[in-house]
Amino acid sequence: MSTNKELISKLLLDRFGKMPESADEKIKQSEQYMEGIKNLIALCGDDPEREGVEETPYRVLKAFLEYTEGYLEDPKEHLEKTFDVAHNEIVLVKDIEFYSMCEHHFAPFFGHAHVAYIPNGKITGLSKIGRMVDGYAKRFQVQERLTNQIADAMIEVLNPLGMMVVVEGKHMCMCGRGVKKSESTTTTTSTRGVFADDPMRRMEFLSLMDR
Ligand SMILES: [Zn+2]
Repeated sequence: MSTNKELISKLLLDRFGKMPESADEKIKQSEQYMEGIKNLIALCGDDPEREGVEETPYRVLKAFLEYTEGYLEDPKEHLEKTFDVAHNEIVLVKDIEFYSMCEHHFAPFFGHAHVAYIPNGKITGLSKIGRMVDGYAKRFQVQERLTNQIADAMIEVLNPLGMMVVVEGKHMCMCGRGVKKSESTTTTTSTRGVFADDPMRRMEFLSLMDR
């Protein structure tokens, strides 16, 4: 049977593609984290040595490293391959699925992002927008910041005439605890350029969203 240290080293190798420079520190943090999860299991009233939860600290560590893979990249780099196209009408990419982690409760939130822009001579690949959304979602987040980061990345790389992002998310921290509203979804928007200035453009966007 592998020791914790071996298992953790393999996890770090998978995540970083090579052993990170501060590997010793990361292994130590991982061990402390697993110890913390073990204590949490006990605190909640269960037996951390029980068969079903015995390996849970390791599994939670592994899952968290996956939830936060976005920290390994600068998501706006996905947009940097651009094409010159003289198209100055709305481009809308709808229903981009995302999974993120609420930074206040470490509970998942997930849903769809809708990203619309009016190019200013430059467009990016449609699938790249999805990758960029993933890169910002896979971090400790709040939905409001996620929405703004998506808009900012598009503005920075493409400098579009207008930019509108709508994110609809379901927050697990509102379902199983606190107010327990399992049916509610949260909608956040970020509006820039002509979408902010021109109500007709915004109407056009909304009618595309309704289809
Ligand atoms: Zn929360």
